[in-house]
Amino acid sequence: MLIENATGIFTGLPGAAMRTSGAIRIRDGVIVEIGALQAQPGERRLDASGCVVYPGLISTHHHLFQSVMKGVRSGINLPLAGWLRSVPYTFWSKIDEEALAVAARIALSEMLLSGTTTVADHHYLFSDSFRFDPAQVIFEVARSLGMRLVFCRGGATKGRHFDTDEFVPMPIEKLDHMLKSVEACAQRFHDTSPGSLSQVVLAPTTPTWSIDPGELKEAIAAARRMKLRLHSHLSESSEYVDFCLSVHGKRPVEWLAEHDWLGPDVWFAHLVHLDSNEVQILASTGTGMAHCPQSNCRLGSGVAPADAMARLGGAVSLGVDGAASNEAADMISEMHSCWHTHRAVKGADAVTAEDVVHWATAGGARVLGLPQIGTLAPGQQADIAIFNLNQPRHFGMHDPLIAPVTCAGSASVRYLLIGGRIVVENNAIPGLDIERLRSDAARVVAQLAA
Ligand SMILES: [Zn+2]
Repeated sequence: MLIENATGIFTGLPGAAMRTSGAIRIRDGVIVEIGALQAQPGERRLDASGCVVYPGLISTHHHLFQSVMKGVRSGINLPLAGWLRSVPYTFWSKIDEEALAVAARIALSEMLLSGTTTVADHHYLFSDSFRFDPAQVIFEVARSLGMRLVFCRGGATKGRHFDTDEFVPMPIEKLDHMLKSVEACAQRFHDTSPGSLSQVVLAPTTPTWSIDPGELKEAIAAARRMKLRLHSHLSESSEYVDFCLSVHGKRPVEWLAEHDWLGPDVWFAHLVHLDSNEVQILASTGTGMAHCPQSNCRLGSGVAPADAMARLGGAVSLGVDGAASNEAADMISEMHSCWHTHRAVKGADAVTAEDVVHWATAGGARVLGLPQIGTLAPGQQADIAIFNLNQPRHFGMHDPLIAPVTCAGSASVRYLLIGGRIVVENNAIPGLDIERLRSDAARVVAQLAA
C-alpha cells in the first residue's frame, strides 16, 4: 500500500523531526519507507491529496461506559465530587451488558472518526450482580471496529464517603479477588506480540479513596509480577491534596513514592494539582500523565502542569476522559482545548500545536509502553490518520499541517489505518450501522433516565 500526494506529514517526533513530506509505503501492516517513492506494480494507492497525515491519535484515559451519560442535568454544573455522585455513582448499577456494549460502540466510533487508533479504557464497574464480563464485552466491541484497546481493569477495595442509601453503592471487592480477576483477564486478553491490539492494565480507581493504604505495595508488586502496567486517577481536584495532607501528612505524589507507585510502568489521569517538587518527581521517575484538559475544564478542576512536566522530559500524553464529564470526548477536540487552555493562563508560547500532537501520539505510546505506535517511521505499525482539509474552516491556512489542532471542529477523515487496515474511509466506519447505533443509544438513555 502507498499513501501518496499528501500536503505534509507530522511524524509525532519532537522538535524539527515532527515535519516531513513524501509518500508512505506499508507492507504487512508496518511502515517500510517514507519519502519520494514511486508506486510499485500491484500496489494499492491511497490518494492523500489535499490531506495532512498524522500518526493515529492515542488517548490514554477514557471511561467508555460513560458515553450513555452525556449532559446529565443533575450533574452538569457540579465539580468533581458532586458530579461523581450525581452521574456515574447514580447510574452505574443500570449499566447492563447491552448498555455497556452500546456505550463502548458510541465511544470508540467517536474516537475512530476523530482519527484515534488506540484507546485506554479505565473501566471500574465490576460487580457480582453483573452476569457478564465487562472486559469481554468491551474487547468484543473494540475488535469489531479494529481498534487498539488498552483495558485498564479498575475497581475498589473500599467505598467512597459519598456512598449513601439514595443509590446502590459502588461495588467493592477484596484485593485478592481484584488481583485474581486481573490475572484471569490478562491471561485472556493481554497480548504482548508486536502489533498487538489488546493489552490489560491493573487500575484501582484511585489510590487515595479506592484502596486501603496497606494494600498499595501489594497491588503494585502484583502488577509488576504479572508484567502489567499500573494506572489510576490522581490529584484531579484540590480535595486529593487536602485529603492526603490531612490523613497521610504528605502530598499525593510524595505519599505514593513511599508505596512504590511511581515509575515508567505507571501513569495517572489528571495530575492537575501538583507542586513543583511533585512535577520533578514524576518527570525523573518517568511516571506518566494522562492530561485531560477538557474534562478538567468541564468540572472546573484547573489546568494540569503538563507543559512543566514535558520541559523536564516527563512522559505526557492526552486522554479524553469519560464522556459524562466531557461531552466532546474526541481527540481533535481534546488537542484543540489543550492548545488553548495552557495559552489562556500561561501565555502564547506555553504550548505549541506540535507539542500537542507529540503528546497525543508519541507521548501516548510512551505512557502506554507501546513503542511500535505513535510515530511515523520505518518499522512502526501503520497506525495512520489522513485528515482531509476540505472544509471552509481549513481554507486560507498558511500552515496546513497544524490545521487539525488549530482549526479543530469535526475531523474529516479520508482514511484511518490501524496496523495497515482501513478502519475509516471518507468519514465512514465500514460495517457500522449509525441509524441502529442512534436508536440503541436513545433506548439506553431512556432506560437510565427512567
Ligand atoms: Zn477518569
